[in-house]
Amino acid sequence: MTTLPTETPATDPDSSVDYDVAVGGGGAAGLSAAVFTARYGLETVVFDGGKAAITQCAHVENYLGFPGGVSPDRLLALGRTQASDEGATVVDERVTAVSRHDEEATRVDDEETQFVVATTDRETVADRVVVAAAYDGDVLEPLGDALPEPDPFVPTDAGRTDIDGLYVAGWASDETVHQVGVNVGHGTRVGLTVARDDMSERYWPAVGERYVDWVVHEGRYGGDGWTDHIDEWFEEEMRPADDDLGPATVEQTRDDLAAEFLGREIDETERRRRDRAGQRRLLDHLDDEVIREYAAELDATETSE
Ligand SMILES: Cc1cc2nc3c(=O)[nH]c(=O)nc-3n(C[C@H](O)[C@H](O)[C@H](O)COP(=O)(O)OP(=O)(O)OC[C@H]3O[C@@H](n4cnc5c(N)ncnc54)[C@H](O)[C@@H]3O)c2cc1C
Repeated sequence: MTTLPTETPATDPDSSVDYDVAVGGGGAAGLSAAVFTARYGLETVVFDGGKAAITQCAHVENYLGFPGGVSPDRLLALGRTQASDEGATVVDERVTAVSRHDEEATRVDDEETQFVVATTDRETVADRVVVAAAYDGDVLEPLGDALPEPDPFVPTDAGRTDIDGLYVAGWASDETVHQVGVNVGHGTRVGLTVARDDMSERYWPAVGERYVDWVVHEGRYGGDGWTDHIDEWFEEEMRPADDDLGPATVEQTRDDLAAEFLGREIDETERRRRDRAGQRRLLDHLDDEVIREYAAELDATETSE
């Protein structure tokens, strides 16, 4: 997991924010966005309930990585497990409305715009909100004229809407077509956008634009070569324009980035451990009957050899 060095607002006990990111909708797009925001280090909650597009599909047969297809319920359960394993909290509650915490607040004045996400059971204050509720775009109605009328989908740019800190992912956005793969991909795009916006604020835009979520082999960044080039790379691609500078200093930012890239490396032992752990996590989601049947077939093959 990539862990950035600076603490995020929701981890600050003095903050009035409950979560850095609240995602409304735990389907293909919402869970994918949550995986990315949680891995980046933002405290993330996903509220899920209401009408889904994906469960109307009988069997998903065109989503890469599942030869033979996968049931929508199994795919969503796998996605929930992954989002939870990465640190997101998934709650079975339907979002009823998204509104501004303070109509007057702007990120420039108050650092955090903040939204209130109302669900059937509670109100949650979040610094950023991702609406991934497929057909339930009317949860945005309390925001009034600040957003253009969906026609029929909400206009977005990499998930961003006209309201700073509010994003729309998946089916409800005008950037997608309606296939599971595209909407998982759009959720990924939006999750990255949220991370990049956070990083742009904490550093400056040229740094945020470079953020990716990669895990690499040991030596890829720390071995011969790469670290020698970090200064050059930083100068060429991330040196801030004067008016870009956020709260961080150039030197500190370069050191933070070097540390973050080195933190992406895993050695061979760790890679093998993760590969095995990942396979076991998949097994958790298979029917016991199928696992037993397969094990019996393996036993029979070994006995006959
Ligand atoms: C009949 C049908 C068949 C389809 N078949 C296929 C197919 O075979 N292959 C394929 O690739 N695509 C298929 N699709 C398209 C695919 O299902 C969607 O493109 C994709 O699921 C959209 O992803 P999403 O995350 O935007 O929505 P969803 O995956 O539907 O997720 C939305 C989630 O948000 C939740 N939600 C809704 N409202 C709220 C709320 N107010 N608060 C909190 N949570 C909320 C829902 O319960 C759901 O979990 C089909 C669609 C339909 C309608």
